[in-house]
Amino acid sequence: MKKKNILVAGGAGFVGSNLCEFLVEKGHRVVCLDNLSTGRMQNIKNLRLKKNFEFMRHDITKPRNFPADEIYHLASPASPVHYQKDPVGTWKANTLGTLNLLELARKQKTKFLFASTSEVYGDPKVHPQGEKYRGNVNPVGIRSCYDESKRAGESLCADYYRLYKFPVKIVRIFNTYGPNMEINDGRVVSNFIVQALKNEPITVYGQGRQTRSFQYIDDLIQGLVKMMEGSFLGPVNLGNPGEFTILHLAKLATQLTGSKSRIIYQPLPADDPKRRRPDISLAEKKLNWRPKVELKAGLLRTIEYFQSIL
Ligand code: NAD
Ligand code: UDP
Repeated sequence: MKKKNILVAGGAGFVGSNLCEFLVEKGHRVVCLDNLSTGRMQNIKNLRLKKNFEFMRHDITKPRNFPADEIYHLASPASPVHYQKDPVGTWKANTLGTLNLLELARKQKTKFLFASTSEVYGDPKVHPQGEKYRGNVNPVGIRSCYDESKRAGESLCADYYRLYKFPVKIVRIFNTYGPNMEINDGRVVSNFIVQALKNEPITVYGQGRQTRSFQYIDDLIQGLVKMMEGSFLGPVNLGNPGEFTILHLAKLATQLTGSKSRIIYQPLPADDPKRRRPDISLAEKKLNWRPKVELKAGLLRTIEYFQSIL
């Protein structure tokens, strides 16, 4: 296998650090760019001992040259708690940051992959969500800094491809969980597991009837790498089509941890999507990919991780 120089922007975050581990293990030379806004050095502590891994503290909203054969752009806050705390920073990462990395890729004719999101579908009126669905996003709501900046990022990617004809790929990632999530990340899986392990109340927003489809991180990494390696440009959904209510997840987290936690109900945040499930037939057809890890098995592995760091 040819060894490549691979740039992972956002490589100290949850998805990025798992991707860096996979690529370093395969023998590639990996440069991780991160401004550590939501990422952590702890996630890449073991990687830094490897000769084929390098960390560079860098904010992608500032242009800079790095040699690379492939660029993965994962650098954006992803948890609603974090992106709502820094909405303008989120806009910059997905627009200015995307533009800077696309320019870098254009100059070197490098393969480029943009991590977009199921949030481009907003609070969907079509179920399950296929790539042809154009979404239902509130352009001025509290989630719009993320949803609309990802949509703008996709638009930039599409125009760079039309103008310059190098491989610019778009993946739409659905809710993903697993090791290297931060304790205070604020997303539902980490919240519920941490609360359950501490025997603290499980905070269900609304009545917990809203649904999500949860994908284990290893499945996503397989999908991202397949996408980068093949010729398909997307946009393509990467997610697990198993759909569960948030209340079901709360009960499962309590049961699997053997916790004494009780469930408490808190207000549902504005614009919280009611249902979400990916149609993954395009990924199955074009990438020969489908997720393998069931929710229970993935949660058990994630519980083990949180037990080890709490
Ligand atoms: P994360 O917050 O754990 O990781 C994001 C990383 O990007 C962090 O290390 C952060 O410090 C870094 N970063 C942010 N802004 C930056 C900037 N301007 N310059 C350099 N680094 C910057 O989130 P994650 O879950 O790992 O998500 C990674 C990517 O995948 C994001 O683009 C996110 O939108 C996308 N995504 C993730 C999910 C999911 O469920 N995890 C779902 C949909 C999309
Ligand atoms: N949620 C919840 N309790 C929490 C965190 C989240 O009930 O402590 C709900 C949230 O309202 C949403 C779902 O869980 O309906 C998924 O939230 P998350 O922040 O993980 O990601 P989203 O898919 O909303 O971007």
